[in-house]
Amino acid sequence: MEKEKEIVFGKKTLVIPSENDKIRDIFKHVVDNDADIRYNIDGATIELVKIYPNISKTTVARVIRTSKELKLFSGCDLLVEFSGELWDVLNDDVKKIVMEHELLHVQCKVNNKTTEVTYHLVDHDVKDFKSIIEQYGIDWFSEIQNKSIELYPVGTDKDDDDVIKEKEKTFVKLIRL
Ligand SMILES: [Zn+2]
Repeated sequence: MEKEKEIVFGKKTLVIPSENDKIRDIFKHVVDNDADIRYNIDGATIELVKIYPNISKTTVARVIRTSKELKLFSGCDLLVEFSGELWDVLNDDVKKIVMEHELLHVQCKVNNKTTEVTYHLVDHDVKDFKSIIEQYGIDWFSEIQNKSIELYPVGTDKDDDDVIKEKEKTFVKLIRL
């Protein structure tokens, strides 16, 4: 059985989940069930990374398009990162939506002349993708908010790299994904 691989980087521990980690089933489930995602990530090498304790207290997950150096060393086109502590306490249904949301950020482009495929990240102008809102509504997000507040109560110590903007502090908490 393959073990997880991890590296400590300052206050963060980056973990590549083992082959039998449930996160890989969730990834596979989402890809198998969404033709748009399948089309857009077809041919891409994607790796999943869990970051402990978190990417930041206000980020549940994000996608990174690898630089050429990162691609050279990792062989990956894209990395999907998850805030480990928060991810671990979410229920499976919410995890699937988070995974789906992140993968919807990926769009492939085919060069007509060279037929070379490249992968780009697209943003959503609302807080979520239309397809997610249509399928799941907006309430699914409250579980993430609630679990995050349990883990990191508002007003407690902040990481150096996790300074919440004054504007956001006046709201309960703003979680990004
Ligand atoms: Zn997003």
